[in-house]
Amino acid sequence: IPSFFQQALPVLSKLEDSGYEAYFVGGAVRDLFLSRSIHDVDIATSATPLEVKAIFTHTVDVGIDHGTILVLHKGTGFEVTTFRTESAYSDFRRPDHVEFVRSLYDDLKRRDFTMNAMAMDKEGQWIDPFNGKEDIQNGLIRTVGLASERFSEDALRMLRAARFVSQLSFRLEEQTKTAMQQQAQLLEHIAVERKLAELDKLLEGSNKKQALTSLIETGLYRFLPGLADRKTALEHFASLQVDTLTKEQCWIVLSWLCVKEEVKPFLKGWRFPQKRIQHVERSVKTIGQLQASGADDWLFFQAGREAAVDATAAVACLENRDPDLEQAADRWNALPIKHRQELAISGGDLLQWTNRSRGPWIKEILQQAEQAVVRKDVLNTRHDIERWLRECNLL
Ligand code: ATP
Ligand code: MG
Repeated sequence: IPSFFQQALPVLSKLEDSGYEAYFVGGAVRDLFLSRSIHDVDIATSATPLEVKAIFTHTVDVGIDHGTILVLHKGTGFEVTTFRTESAYSDFRRPDHVEFVRSLYDDLKRRDFTMNAMAMDKEGQWIDPFNGKEDIQNGLIRTVGLASERFSEDALRMLRAARFVSQLSFRLEEQTKTAMQQQAQLLEHIAVERKLAELDKLLEGSNKKQALTSLIETGLYRFLPGLADRKTALEHFASLQVDTLTKEQCWIVLSWLCVKEEVKPFLKGWRFPQKRIQHVERSVKTIGQLQASGADDWLFFQAGREAAVDATAAVACLENRDPDLEQAADRWNALPIKHRQELAISGGDLLQWTNRSRGPWIKEILQQAEQAVVRKDVLNTRHDIERWLRECNLL
């Protein structure tokens, strides 16, 4: 048992010593079998939340309604969740209420995919009632039970399936895929925030190309914000070398292909926070400029480092070639100034040199000076800029 699990063993032992069952479950067990890196372990137990709280001295109620208690052990927090079933999904999303049960099998049965429905006890014994190991070996994403039923219980599972295609490089098992094709429209009931969380994970995965193809083939894309009538753009996107792009670079290329100038309404539809919208917007604008006139110092300066690098990666992707990100970073690093505040002169200097009164001309002249400094036409000193402005008859 690897060290990540080792740390949690005392928690399992203590639950067992108190007369309850306790197991490792969920993504960590799957990732252990796949030899993928593990970021957190989930523990499932037959003890109710109140019983868990009675056993451990340090606990935090993180999701007591869903049966989850955070147990603090030697400075590390472990999520301990009571075995539960979920019943009466009346609206195609999350259950109306959860019911705590004493059976591990029932808890595993309510989980989404066979690979996520395995448990491991503290001796390292596997409990795998739905043949998750076999599906993992075959690289298959298969629902626990009838796919059509499981997706109508919670439609988000269809998007989870697509993001696991990207994260794990697995394929959709045939009936699972068919059910996704037939029930894609149930995604209408799912909150945009939850869709965004899954799409972000999909775009962080290493097999994005295949995952995007499955969004298209199953028709799920038709129920994603702003993509319903963008099949051609999405197909174009999926045909590119997207697997090496970062998540944000993906959104930039996708926005460029789908909406060009209309980035803001598109990303607002996805409930993007303002900061992310600004970055994507700026990068998309930079793509247009890069394609029109190539990389230059002034363009990079105006875009800022992140947008310049992301737009460089995006343009290369759109043109089916490898990006020279090192060159882009070198160009940025070689800029004489990185921000306008670093310019050696200010509006006050211009007033002093000209005896003119305040006005919009100040901003214009400052920008010309800025551009000249960035393009290395003049050194960034007060003296050099003044001389340059006089030579150009700008003062
Ligand atoms: P990740 O590595 O991204 O955390 P994960 O498999 O751990 O992947 P989580 O969203 O953390 O995914 O969920 C933990 C576990 O809870 C899953 O492995 C699965 O067993 C179960 N689960 C999560 N979401 C659902 C759902 N919508 N329907 C059924 N079971 C779910
Ligand atoms: Mg997880």
